[in-house]
Amino acid sequence: MSIVFRPEIADLSAYEPGKPIEDVMREYNLDKVVKLASNENPLGFSPKVREAIVDNIDTLALYPDGNSTDLKKALSEFLKLPVDNILPSSGSDEMIDLISKAYINPGDEILMADITFPRYIQTATIMGGEPVIVPLKDFAFDLDAMLDKITDKTKIVWFCNPNNPTGTMTSREDFIDFLKKIPKDVLVVSDEAYREYVTREDFPFDTHELIKDHENLLVMRTFSKAYGLAGIRVGYTLGNAEILDYINKVRGPFNVNSLGQVAAIAALKDQDFLKKAYRSNLQGKEYLYEEFDKLGFPYAASETNHIFVDIKENGRDMFVELQKRGVIIRPMAGNFIRVSIGTMEENKFFLEKFKEVLDLK
Ligand SMILES: *Cc1c(COP(=O)(O)O)cnc(C)c1O
Repeated sequence: MSIVFRPEIADLSAYEPGKPIEDVMREYNLDKVVKLASNENPLGFSPKVREAIVDNIDTLALYPDGNSTDLKKALSEFLKLPVDNILPSSGSDEMIDLISKAYINPGDEILMADITFPRYIQTATIMGGEPVIVPLKDFAFDLDAMLDKITDKTKIVWFCNPNNPTGTMTSREDFIDFLKKIPKDVLVVSDEAYREYVTREDFPFDTHELIKDHENLLVMRTFSKAYGLAGIRVGYTLGNAEILDYINKVRGPFNVNSLGQVAAIAALKDQDFLKKAYRSNLQGKEYLYEEFDKLGFPYAASETNHIFVDIKENGRDMFVELQKRGVIIRPMAGNFIRVSIGTMEENKFFLEKFKEVLDLK
């Protein structure tokens, strides 16, 4: 091939999605497959969302509202924030790209944890930024170590709270203290994909208000996880209006699709559904904790819908053996796996197969 690609992407590999349930069924000739690999909501989504999508299906021939006007308005009322401080996107995934595109110059240092969401390092690399990787401490962000790594080249700090894949969180007090110590020309992005599952009261639940005092803070939230709408691709970011304006310049004109916009508005209106998801998740988490305790496998305390477990043997081998038996989990580096919390039935199915694999040894 004589067409030359940008050198920045030479060492990147394309995202390797987990196998779809249907492929696993066919490949291993299984009639039941449970997927606990992508932190999706096992309860699905609110019935109000279905109604909204059916009611709006005829709009599909038209381009979406490129400004997501109604969605912004609904979020503005929900969060009591001016619309200028809100920017929807095609999931947080797209926003990670857009922020990087708008703000990273070649050579800028982009700070992140060693075990965190992989899109941060990927987008930094694409833009020619220098990823600066800070090891976790006890599976959580090591704020002092992160502060130590701030230089006059630092441009963005990716702050996943609670963190995927470890499930750990940073408290409000520690987060505010951290923000105060960060220079004003460094963007701090709090990725709160799992905030709706948080049980601890000292979580910074009010980051949408903290943006008023901290103009370098962006807050990313999504409808993909607790709201159960991963397939329709809607997320939103909160922050200083001027910063959002620059991000707005680099996005595609119709990045949030029309059914996604109405689905998100309907989802927002059904907070009872979120309560159900929260309770089901908590119950599943306590059950899985108990079982991992019995088996003697340590795990990180999770404030999310997934658990990061040290299974004391190779995580990838376990992944392969579980997949053969109809359970899809996510292998992590070394002896760790990440398992999403499913319905009680799914959690039990996972444990049955997990124990079966352990007994083989
Ligand atoms: C799932 C996830 C996202 C992506 O969410 P989308 O809104 O579906 O793009 C972003 N950040 C973290 C940490 C996630 O786990």
